[in-house]
Amino acid sequence: MPELPEVETIRASLARDIVGKKIKAVSVTNGRVVRRHKTAKEFRALAEGHSIRSVERLGKNLLLGLDNATYLIVHLGMSGQLLRAKGPKDPKPKHTHVVMTFAQGGELRYVDPRTFGELYVSKGPVEGQEVVISKFARLSIGGDGLALRKAVPELAHLGIDPFVDQIGWDRFAAVLRSRSTALKAVLTDQEIMAGIGNIYADEILFAAGLRFDRESESLSTIEIRRLHRAIAEVLTDAIKHGGSTLDDEQFVDPDGQPGTFQNFHQVYNREGLACFHCRQPIMRETVRGRSTFYCVKCES
Ligand SMILES: [Zn+2]
Repeated sequence: MPELPEVETIRASLARDIVGKKIKAVSVTNGRVVRRHKTAKEFRALAEGHSIRSVERLGKNLLLGLDNATYLIVHLGMSGQLLRAKGPKDPKPKHTHVVMTFAQGGELRYVDPRTFGELYVSKGPVEGQEVVISKFARLSIGGDGLALRKAVPELAHLGIDPFVDQIGWDRFAAVLRSRSTALKAVLTDQEIMAGIGNIYADEILFAAGLRFDRESESLSTIEIRRLHRAIAEVLTDAIKHGGSTLDDEQFVDPDGQPGTFQNFHQVYNREGLACFHCRQPIMRETVRGRSTFYCVKCES
């Protein structure tokens, strides 16, 4: 499943060439991906004719800011891809569900074999609606996160985005100390931290030297600072390498290029292989149906 670094890789790529372009036409060939709208026609009508003025990200969501101050949101689900194409003659990949054609030429296609992802245009808060923003996101001391959540009520529940929201280690400490939950569950709960999933939680916890099942409230100040730093460092590194593309998954950027961060994973998918730091075999444990990879010696 694409996580923050993969979605950020797509965002940065799209920001380079679709800002200023006008959505001339939208075709939807699988209504399931626009299921938040009553009909595919409604989705099309909200997008067509508008120019894109920004490409942003919040958690695992991509936000295309339109010229009427609404946002077209893309969530890639398990296997979604956004691919650019020169025009309708470019061969369409199987499972292409939505095609956006730009007035200036070129297309952006949404491809999703498993169809867990979705696209929708948020109409913004309805008149008189009070948008209830996540209490964790409200700890932010800067960044664009609060404004984005106010503009897109569908995303108001999202927790702290490690880059879009600014939160120092001291406020992060308050989040951790407010609950007695296993660290990995805290990191991957989108209503506490937005954008981190199974892969990066394991990599972050290894970088911080903390076990996945440590109770969040048990961390010392030094450990909290280590974890806070590891979140920024691991995600920044992953973005630099264009995200992770695993054998069984299909993450590619809009040009069809896979990421390379999988070559730098320390623990994820390395069960039985020697830890790069201590040579102990990496362990795998299944928690609530999902694999967790960790080093017994390096994480405590
Ligand atoms: Zn180790």
